[in-house]
Amino acid sequence: MPFSGLGLSEPINKALSELGFEKPTPIQEQSIPIILKGKDLIGSAQTGTGKTAAFGLPILQRIVPGKPFQCLILEPTRELAAQVEESLKVFSKHLGIKIGLIYGGVKYGGQLKMLESGAEIIVATPGRLLDHLNQKNLSLKGMDYLVLDEVDRMLDMGFLPDVKRIVQNYCSKERQTLLFTATMPPAIKTLTGWVLNDPAIVEIGQNRSAAETVSHAFYPVVERQKYKLLIELLERTHFESVLIFTRTKFNADMICRRLERLNHSVVALHSDRSQSERTAALKGFKDGKYEVLVATDIAARGLDIAGVTHVINYDVPLHAEDYVHRIGRTGRAQREGDAFTLLTEDEVKNAAAIEHFIGKKIERKKLDGFNYMYSALFNAQEKSAAGGTRSRLFGRSGRGR
Ligand code: AMP
Repeated sequence: MPFSGLGLSEPINKALSELGFEKPTPIQEQSIPIILKGKDLIGSAQTGTGKTAAFGLPILQRIVPGKPFQCLILEPTRELAAQVEESLKVFSKHLGIKIGLIYGGVKYGGQLKMLESGAEIIVATPGRLLDHLNQKNLSLKGMDYLVLDEVDRMLDMGFLPDVKRIVQNYCSKERQTLLFTATMPPAIKTLTGWVLNDPAIVEIGQNRSAAETVSHAFYPVVERQKYKLLIELLERTHFESVLIFTRTKFNADMICRRLERLNHSVVALHSDRSQSERTAALKGFKDGKYEVLVATDIAARGLDIAGVTHVINYDVPLHAEDYVHRIGRTGRAQREGDAFTLLTEDEVKNAAAIEHFIGKKIERKKLDGFNYMYSALFNAQEKSAAGGTRSRLFGRSGRGR
């Protein structure tokens, strides 16, 4: 079905065709008609499936220009909030609707000015929004639409109490509520019980499947050679842009510094960097100023970074779910992407958990010609391979790409 069949208005369809959006994605096709009818909705879809337009387009269509604070969209991170605001601005360019952004880590002045101007839509992270609400800088009593986005991430980050406080104490009861989440742990089920009113449920694909357009590989290696293998992988890969994930901020900074010395254009993104540094890093990476972004999981959820050709996990994520979010940064909107994960012996358990979570085996690859340092484990692998049994670390070996 083309977008024109979904009942969206002319200015919105015009913006979509200027963006080159031809057909709605499945979550858009199913959610937009329900939201346009005014029903509450729970949308369950993995990141990168077009969720922002799925809730953004029908809300933009129903907004009455000039009435302040009609819609509140809550996001777990500043980056996601900024990204959603930016997308909504593009979708609404022919509508003349004001969209305001609220997040912490920056001064209040600009946000107060925006609030005085009475933006119709507010995109916010919970903590700073609560500050503004407590200080009575805005009222949400006349609000018509509430969107809780990436709710499982909000739960992970400990934001659910703030979200509850915002909804219970400050939001209009006469509203349409849309909740989006990739997974549905029990704490979210409880929330949906009282936040939503007889919601329709739209579930796209398997919650647990990793993006289908991504090819995955584990690269087993001994701890001491991890960095060297990373460099070899980078050298042999024809990437346009690559996102490297690390478990710690320390490793993110370390890799960033070392890649800089090798003349890569590289930047780091993690929560110890100031907000202006984080914004500049993300913008620089999106604009192509940096070809490599080294990030902790702060960047893993939902961020839309177009054209990421490769994701490299320097560490296997501790939570299997994070793997899906990390590799969700590549292969977005049907583009092809590769996801490499370096795997050391003490991470074998985490790797197995990921395979269990996504429901498929991830191929083990060896980089041809790399001077592998063989640990006892690798010797065991060779022996077992010679004996025809499957090794613990390696499946079949493959070429690095
Ligand atoms: P989201 O899940 O909202 O972050 O969107 C993921 C990416 O898909 C973004 O780059 C969107 O601009 C893009 N996108 C969303 N909907 C469509 C569509 N119907 N056609 C083409 N690209 C889309």
